[in-house]
Amino acid sequence: MIALTGVSRTYPGGVAALREVSLRIGHGELVAIAGPSGSGKSTMLNVIGTLDRPTTGSVHIDGHDVSALTDNQLSALRATTIGFVFQSFHLAPRVPALDNVADGLVYTGMSRSERRRRAAEALERVGLGHRMDHEPHELSGGERQRVAIARAVAGDPPLLLADEPTGALDSVSGAGVMELLRELNAAGTTIVIITHDREIADRLPRQVRMRDGEIVSDSAQEPVRLWK
Ligand code: ADP
Ligand code: ADP
Repeated sequence: MIALTGVSRTYPGGVAALREVSLRIGHGELVAIAGPSGSGKSTMLNVIGTLDRPTTGSVHIDGHDVSALTDNQLSALRATTIGFVFQSFHLAPRVPALDNVADGLVYTGMSRSERRRRAAEALERVGLGHRMDHEPHELSGGERQRVAIARAVAGDPPLLLADEPTGALDSVSGAGVMELLRELNAAGTTIVIITHDREIADRLPRQVRMRDGEIVSDSAQEPVRLWK
């Protein structure tokens, strides 16, 4: 699903946010990207999400060589293939949950009625069938993040990228959001989550740790622990 090979990203001014990073993530994986602030996690997620292009190295997403695609082709790839979830929800204020989710499908070319049907289905999937008419300010933090997740998965993208999805939530709501992400993963979605929270990272099936723009450990590469 994701293949980064020798990827570096240097920002104007000379900060090397990624240094020769190589990483493969298969269909159906659930992966945590962990590491201290400034280690390159967001840059890596932006490169995987095709929001940013590497300075050098190659990126393949769902079989597409990102460097061979124009910006318009990348927008189309994102619309069909990748859902995004952010720490701060990124919902439109004063807009009911159903429309917040349906509006995320505008770029798919679906009709308005199809978008609303899909949005209702996605809200049911995240357990918010009873909150469709609620505006973000009428919802709890955990519910807002569920709406944001419904928005991200309404078009059934095979890949979901989440940047600190529990970072703005108390631990109970955060645990609920992680449980929801696990369910979506069990239903087939490949998920990559940035997290500062070691407890969350430690519970996921695969953990990639970064420091200073490099991958310093990847639990998928570790030898089997015979005493387990
Ligand atoms: P993390 O998500 O782990 O906190 P980032 O990927 O945001 O790390 O940042 C990695 C490094 O790149 C940091 O030194 C950060 O200051 C720098 N950086 C991030 N975004 C930019 C930018 N747009 N311009 C310049 N430097 C940036
Ligand atoms: P945070 O809000 O803590 O930065 P998010 O995951 O919501 O975390 O943000 C992801 C990225 O989008 C960050 O690099 C952040 O700077 C940027 N971002 C978040 N909100 C906005 C906004 N309203 N306008 C512009 N950029 C934003």
